[in-house]
Amino acid sequence: MAVREVIIYPDPILRNKNTEVTTFDEDLKKLTDDMFDTMYEFEGIGLAGPQIAVNKRIVVIDIPDDEGNQHKNQLVIINPKITKLEGDIVESQEGCLSVPGYQDTVTRYQRCTVEYQNLQGEHCVFDNVDGLFAICLQHEIDHLEGKIFVDKLSRLKRERLHKKYAKILKDRQRGE
Ligand SMILES: [Zn+2]
Repeated sequence: MAVREVIIYPDPILRNKNTEVTTFDEDLKKLTDDMFDTMYEFEGIGLAGPQIAVNKRIVVIDIPDDEGNQHKNQLVIINPKITKLEGDIVESQEGCLSVPGYQDTVTRYQRCTVEYQNLQGEHCVFDNVDGLFAICLQHEIDHLEGKIFVDKLSRLKRERLHKKYAKILKDRQRGE
């Protein structure tokens, strides 16, 4: 188990095509263990393969319980496909481990249905889920399509992001 380096926006790795997983073996398990380690290290609730430079269709999610505790609901989601988006369009305040130090409001569907495979390669479904989990699923599956939540911002907001983010990146570099 190991914490991997997180790929930071606007690195083109985040825009690469992500391929389907076809081998469900011990290496895949180790990779997802590293993804959880990395996600917890940087205090995230979800992480997608391209965010650690693995351009494969893999997502891990761990939504905290009511007390804010993680490690109880670890989900490994392989080859996910959104098959239904339903309900109202809701605003969600989002951040991303690949866009450190920046949060903003974007819109998502309230509910979604996602077909996926688990670590054993078995076909499973999250049927019409809602709340933070539904939003997190949409955010992470976007990563597998090379999309980042800041792509959804209006032009005005994106200009603001680029100004603010340039400073964040500079501060990060100085810190290293
Ligand atoms: Zn993200």
